[in-house]
Amino acid sequence: MKKKVSYDAFWMPFTANRDFKANPRIINRAEGMYCYSDNGTQLLDATAGLWCVNAGHARQEIGEAMARQVAELDYSSPFNFGHDIGFEFAERLVEFTPTGLNKVFFTNSGSEAVESALKIALAYQRAKGNTTKFKLIGRELAYHGVNFGGLSVGGLTPNRTGFGPLLPADHLSHTLDVERNAFSKGLPEHGVEKAEQLEQLIQFHGAESVAAVIVEPISGAGGVILPPKGYLKRLREICDRHDVVLIFDEVITGWGRLGSPFAAQEFEVTPDLITSAKGITSGVVPLGAVFAKDEIYETVVNSAAEGSVEFYHGYTYSGHPVACAAGLATMDIYQREGLLERGRGEIGQYFADGLHSLKGIQSIVDIRNYGLIGAVQFAAPADGKPIGFDILKRCYDKGLLVRSMGNTIALSPPLIIEKSHVDQIIDTLAAVAKDIPAK
Ligand code: PMP
Repeated sequence: MKKKVSYDAFWMPFTANRDFKANPRIINRAEGMYCYSDNGTQLLDATAGLWCVNAGHARQEIGEAMARQVAELDYSSPFNFGHDIGFEFAERLVEFTPTGLNKVFFTNSGSEAVESALKIALAYQRAKGNTTKFKLIGRELAYHGVNFGGLSVGGLTPNRTGFGPLLPADHLSHTLDVERNAFSKGLPEHGVEKAEQLEQLIQFHGAESVAAVIVEPISGAGGVILPPKGYLKRLREICDRHDVVLIFDEVITGWGRLGSPFAAQEFEVTPDLITSAKGITSGVVPLGAVFAKDEIYETVVNSAAEGSVEFYHGYTYSGHPVACAAGLATMDIYQREGLLERGRGEIGQYFADGLHSLKGIQSIVDIRNYGLIGAVQFAAPADGKPIGFDILKRCYDKGLLVRSMGNTIALSPPLIIEKSHVDQIIDTLAAVAKDIPAK
């Protein structure tokens, strides 16, 4: 008989615990494009877990690679000792990164990748002799994880309040402009001028004090906010002019979400540092990384005396052998099945067409998409209470998993998605949206 589990002890993250525990949504099994609730209901996973299960659920070869690795080497310290699989995985990863970003600093999560990237940027500026450059710039509505550096540059108000003072950081405006860009397909036409705010912020603080700028090429948790055409290129030019490190947080946009390995390649803008996690192991096991330009690595590493530690930073599990084994198996799947390019191929187009076919339903005020990421924004209800979570629950009741933020629901299906799954997503969303009042 199945063991009865109590839902008491687990303090759930980013969840209304009392509400959840009164009416739990439990998923105990998953395979391919589907998850299964505890009562056996099939749920189409239109969010790849939490934007991470890019190769689809229950890929046996990832588990088998991990089991073989446990038998060979379960763990050894990454401080002053190494193991081949860590080096092998790093070499493999830089086959996918933009030209020039050939160094990998391993972490366990996206939040840790962000903290590590911010510290690398600060260490680099110091190593270069830019000792007064310590300020960080982020963006409104950005999500960069939940640690203090990431919160400081992040721009989601509920995450920032309630924890006392954060690090000195300023913020660019977000680029969401539903008035001018509603129902754009792909990158929006309007808003490139918002990049000029970076020039203004740098002037305001003084270029001699600004160390780094971090942006998600497409903001995920903020509501799938796309960069206007030319915007990221403009940020790159401004950073170059003022010797400011440009960080792309690609925890969501990396690993094929947009139809290229990284947004940097898709948008043809090369940052100095890229943060990664989630799809790096297809969500099977926690792992994150920072990809750094060679010049950054060399400047930091050469700044210390021979034999001295150059960067006082790292984690017990940096480059964990079992996580690296999972990552290598994940890369095998991505390459063999051509998953990283699917977003820009026929299925990406089918997904885009499906989403935009929802235009015209009264309750929908915007649809945004790129590759295999998308969002549907609903009219703000008259009572001011965001409707996204209500829509998530309605979708769940109809066998569809989506993510909600404010009045928006986000879609980021596994990259193995087929047309029949897109049809199911769109049919379900249409049925739900038609039940939502326009105001
Ligand atoms: N950066 C971005 C852009 C993210 O979307 C996330 C997670 N959703 C993070 C950082 C944090 O990653 P983690 O939850 O693995 O710490």
